[in-house]
Amino acid sequence: MTITDSVVFDDLEIGEIAVDLDDQEPEDVVEWALDELGDRIAVVTALQADGMVVLDMAARIRPDVRVVTVDTGRLPQQTLEFIETARKHYPRTRWDVLAPDSAEVEAMVRERGDDLFRTSVADRMRCCQVRKVRPLTEALRGLDGWFTGLRRDQWASRAAIKKVELDHDHGGIVKVNALADWESQDVWDYIEEHHVPVHPLYSHGYTSFGCAPCTRPIQPGEDDRAGRWWWEKGAPKECGIHCPIETGAFEHEAEEI
Ligand code: SF4
Repeated sequence: MTITDSVVFDDLEIGEIAVDLDDQEPEDVVEWALDELGDRIAVVTALQADGMVVLDMAARIRPDVRVVTVDTGRLPQQTLEFIETARKHYPRTRWDVLAPDSAEVEAMVRERGDDLFRTSVADRMRCCQVRKVRPLTEALRGLDGWFTGLRRDQWASRAAIKKVELDHDHGGIVKVNALADWESQDVWDYIEEHHVPVHPLYSHGYTSFGCAPCTRPIQPGEDDRAGRWWWEKGAPKECGIHCPIETGAFEHEAEEI
C-alpha cells in the first residue's frame, strides 16, 4: 500500500495529527474524527465495554452516528438481544448489522464442518475470515474512517496502536483508537459515570467475547482476552480484522475442555 491509498490524509499528515492528539482525552479524539469525517466514519463494535464507551462518546457528539456490527451466525443469544438494547438506548444511531455471505458459509461448513475452528488454527482463522472479517472489510470499503475500542494494554499485538492512524489493511482509511491509552478501569469508570449499557455476559465472568463457541469466562488471574479461542497455543487472540494473520505460522494444540 502507498500513501495514495488514503482517502483523506496521507501518512505524514496523520502522523502529525496523531502526535497532536496523543495526549488528548478520548472525547476530544472522537470529536476531531467526527468533525473531519462527518458521516463517513462509523463506530465498528462487537458490543464489548470498550466499544460501547466509544459509541457513547460519539453519540453524545453526533446522536445519529453510524454503527456497524456483525452477526456472524454464531453469536450468543445475549449479544443479539443486547444489540437491540443498545439501539434503543441510542435511538438516533444508524446501525448496519452485517451478515456473512451465506454461500461462503455453506461452502466452508460443507467442506470443514460447522465447528471447524476446533480443528486447527488455520481453520479457525478461515472461519473468522468468512463469518466476520470479510463482511467488515466490505463495509469498511464504503467508509473513510472507523472507530474502534482498541486499547494498548489489551494484548501484545495492540501495544503500539496510535489514537489515530491510517489503516493500510483497509484502503488507507482513518482508524480511530480513541481509548488507546486507557486501562480497563478507565472504561468501567466511564460506563458507571455515563450509565452506558453493559453486555450481560460481563456479569457471568466474561471479559471479552465474540461467538458463543469460541468464548469462555476467564479464570482468576487470567488476561482479559484469555477466554477467546482458549484451546489454541501460540496463536494471536485476534480474528484478523485488526491485524492481518498468517494462518500457517502458529502451533496448535487442543486442550481438554
Ligand atoms: Fe468462527 Fe469462532 Fe471466529 Fe466466530 S469466533 S467466526 S465461530 S472461529
